[in-house]
Amino acid sequence: MAESILNGREGLRKTVYGVAEVAGYLWQNGWAERNGGNITVNVTEFVDEQIKQLAPISEVKQIGSTLPHLKGQYFYCKGTGKRMRDLARCPMDNGSIIRILDDCASYVIIADNPVQPTSELPSHLAIHNRQIEKGSGYKATVHTHPIELIAMSHTNKFLKKDVLTKLLWSMIPETKAFCPLGLGIVPYSLPGSNVMAQGTLEQLEEYDVVMWEKHGVFAMDKDVNAAFDQIDVLSKSAKIYMAAKTMGFEPDGMSDEQMGEITRVFGLPK
Ligand SMILES: [Zn+2]
Repeated sequence: MAESILNGREGLRKTVYGVAEVAGYLWQNGWAERNGGNITVNVTEFVDEQIKQLAPISEVKQIGSTLPHLKGQYFYCKGTGKRMRDLARCPMDNGSIIRILDDCASYVIIADNPVQPTSELPSHLAIHNRQIEKGSGYKATVHTHPIELIAMSHTNKFLKKDVLTKLLWSMIPETKAFCPLGLGIVPYSLPGSNVMAQGTLEQLEEYDVVMWEKHGVFAMDKDVNAAFDQIDVLSKSAKIYMAAKTMGFEPDGMSDEQMGEITRVFGLPK
């Protein structure tokens, strides 16, 4: 077997295997049927001189837009058509590392195999571009299909601004503490469309996690486990809500006063 780029690079290995760990959670949770979901992580901090010299193993591919903050940046990306459950075992066979070229509009694959990145790459890269521009320190983006949260997006009453956020926050105190900006909403549009990418970028100015109506959730955070955690706490709240409804009643939720107390004690932004 050819040498892996992860060999002798502990930081990079830990990061890529962190993606594998989260991919396993997505599958175990029933959120990642077939090839559903995407993960991309900015791994530029682990790039050494040797990696910079690595010859491309793909032709030059166009991103479809120019992203000026991505010059010389490197990303680990899940492969298109690849399954999360396979990525969990073999991350470098089901994803690859790409280098953004100096024109900021194209990229090449550099390791380990020429696995073509997710078809959602342009929208993921646009979000990474914005994070660098803002200096947010966010390195990871995760898109997945959490069952209960998607179910809740099938009624208009939950799609008005911050209605679902408030409901989910009120189900259990930790949700507000660990998803402190709440859940943005992107109205339904064709997966992979420019409209959806633009809507996501806009919502991510205000939220770390956004709901794609009747489709799934998109989250960003400093690393892939942190992005997963934000989705996980929201999903927990959605499950509590559904459990109460299944028992035949509308849950009261924490009061405004109790939620205000959480905000004060934890020093939360909202
Ligand atoms: Zn999806």
